[in-house]
Amino acid sequence: MIRPSDLMRPEVLAQPAYAVAESAGMIKLDAMENPYAWPGELRMAWLEALSGVELNRYPDAGARAVTAAIRAVHQVPEEAGCLLGNGSDELIQILISAVQASGRPVLSPIPTFVMYEVLARAAGVPFVGVPLTTDFDLDGPALLRALDEHRPALVFLAYPNNPTGRLYDPGLVAEVVAANPGLTVIDEAYAPFSSNSFLSQAGGASGLMVMRTMSKLGLAGLRLGYLAATPEWIDALDRLRLPYNINALTQRSVSFALDHAAVLDEQAHTLREQRARVSAVLASLPGVRRVIPSDANFILFEVARGRGHPVFEFLRASGILIKDVGRAGGVLTDHLRVTVGTPEENSAFLAALTEALRS
Ligand SMILES: *Cc1c(COP(=O)(O)O)cnc(C)c1O
Repeated sequence: MIRPSDLMRPEVLAQPAYAVAESAGMIKLDAMENPYAWPGELRMAWLEALSGVELNRYPDAGARAVTAAIRAVHQVPEEAGCLLGNGSDELIQILISAVQASGRPVLSPIPTFVMYEVLARAAGVPFVGVPLTTDFDLDGPALLRALDEHRPALVFLAYPNNPTGRLYDPGLVAEVVAANPGLTVIDEAYAPFSSNSFLSQAGGASGLMVMRTMSKLGLAGLRLGYLAATPEWIDALDRLRLPYNINALTQRSVSFALDHAAVLDEQAHTLREQRARVSAVLASLPGVRRVIPSDANFILFEVARGRGHPVFEFLRASGILIKDVGRAGGVLTDHLRVTVGTPEENSAFLAALTEALRS
């Protein structure tokens, strides 16, 4: 019988499938989800809107209504084209497959969102990681050298970055965009929580592309991301998109959510306030070595040498799931990432953490 190893590349088989921690019954602060549900009457109105969707028909292939709503509510520049993906993960995959045959690598500062490297590897495209500085900003000189040496087809800059939460110096981002011989994609997955954005430049003369997602805003279950870029690039990338990639329930639900954008904006506002509160308490705890300033809905912090994993396990045993990002070692050793939750969830996290650091 033919086996996967007869036909698939060893580096793909060596890569474990994307793992999601078991979280039933726990306070879930590991995946940058918005913890808030919609108010009851809004939920009823949403169900009413969904009841009009014809499930026997294919969805609108061009997803026109939801694209128009996104463009209007998020102020996508007039001159930019807009491509929707089944999550921004799918857009990353489309971008990588578009440049696959060029023989040129994908490049990103590291540590960053793992899917850039995972999807490059899956496509057989080399990945070049350029280490960030010790305080997790772009290393300008190293990046410029790497652009010159590797001539990447694609550069991904998560802005703010995951798992650090940091916004890179915008001047350095502009330098990278100018010096990059390939495409620069600014991944603004955390835009609802960020103090800066490049969206107004998407589709313009600099050539930069901006990618966003509805996931972190509070619609992770729907799977919708978008890419804003020049119409020429959007038209080219659209040839690689699977037909009907955005299902009918997602199209209708996102349109509905954007009609009520104030509700999600208000939730994001509360989460930003909670981020300030949690960051301040974290910084005051004796066992916390540093707290990385965050522009996202999560906070990266470092505990004493060798304490990262035990603290994570203590929290898990207390019913609180965060992310042990230090597990892989390297510069993130003993760093933990906590998603900002409701005030009650955050209080429970801080109380358990205080206890964990004492034990
Ligand atoms: C979560 C995340 C994404 C993925 O978003 P989906 O739209 O849910 O696929 C993309 N980029 C970064 C940096 C993220 O943290």
